[in-house]
Amino acid sequence: MNKYESGDTWVVKVGSSLLSSDGAGIDKALIDNWVAQIARLRNLGKKIVLVSSGAVAVGAKRLGMTSRPTSLHELQAAAAVGQMGLIQVYETAFQRFNILTAQVLLTNDDLLSRKRYLNARNTLTKLMHMNTIPIVNENDTVVTDEIQFSDNDSLAALVTNLINADSLIILTDQPGLLSEDPIANPSAKLIKEASASDPAILRVAGKSSVAGVGRGGMLSKVNAAQIAGKSGASTVIACGRSEGVLIDIQAGNMPGTLFRSEKEAVIARKQWLASLRSSGTLILDQGACDQLTSKGSSLLPVGVKQSIGEYKRGDAVTCCNESGREIGRGLINYGSGQVLKICGKPTSEIEGQLGFISEEELIHRDNFVLLG
Ligand code: GLU
Repeated sequence: MNKYESGDTWVVKVGSSLLSSDGAGIDKALIDNWVAQIARLRNLGKKIVLVSSGAVAVGAKRLGMTSRPTSLHELQAAAAVGQMGLIQVYETAFQRFNILTAQVLLTNDDLLSRKRYLNARNTLTKLMHMNTIPIVNENDTVVTDEIQFSDNDSLAALVTNLINADSLIILTDQPGLLSEDPIANPSAKLIKEASASDPAILRVAGKSSVAGVGRGGMLSKVNAAQIAGKSGASTVIACGRSEGVLIDIQAGNMPGTLFRSEKEAVIARKQWLASLRSSGTLILDQGACDQLTSKGSSLLPVGVKQSIGEYKRGDAVTCCNESGREIGRGLINYGSGQVLKICGKPTSEIEGQLGFISEEELIHRDNFVLLG
């Protein structure tokens, strides 16, 4: 068995029942404990995005409800009230370590639309470069996926794909994936390691009556591990209450179940980019082709001789050399109407031509794959 390398970029997901002590109000001591571990991990060079649910639980308590509401609109209203309290607790906890936090509310649909995908990716990447900790939750006012079904497990997997994280860490109140339903068979064993692409793990997770079906059960966590695995991230499902759980994962002392991805994150992303349907073509000058092919640089407007076709910000476009041979494909930061105005021009002229500047690059190198 190879040693697990958790990589530099992690998505850490914490669930409602864990941080709200099963509905008994928010467990600040537990949050302080994770925050202290995250601060330590940052000092070791990790970049971390936190995906936290708990808004409904906090909101229901603040509104004086004695149990979790059942109607969807009440759940959404509770989430809107509770998100304020949730984010305050995180902000205060991270302030003790002089770490800035940022609130990011997303929906699955945001990540399906190419334009919003690029916006969310660019913002999260920028927030990480600014050394902040983004704290993501579902935007429960406009959608109901996570409050109905998966307690942010699938959102966490999509965020993992979005930022190309190396690891998804799902903290829960279970020790990990067990071989049997622990209620039917108390001697069920912890599965220490599995392949994220193995279909059998879904069957095992489905047997768990602890949380086999419905909101945020083991099934939705294993589903999340499978989604994350497709973009090359490994997933760890572990008990958030065990002391030093994140530090243990970093040290390779696996405290829960590790779902290894068969792919490397970079290769998975390149395969994904290469598979996208192209919406337009850019003809590049020799200098730009050289920069992309031998230096791995981003594409700037100055290197584009011609733009062909109609495309929108976030679409995939084909990049060709002057003889029309495809050299690669990438996600473009500007729509075709805007590219026509700035192609061939230096970056300093983007704002003058368009009246604003989204990004200095037409295609960022992380969103580009060389082909041919
Ligand atoms: N977004 C929801 C929250 O933060 C999901 C979890 C839940 O339904 O409890 O509360």
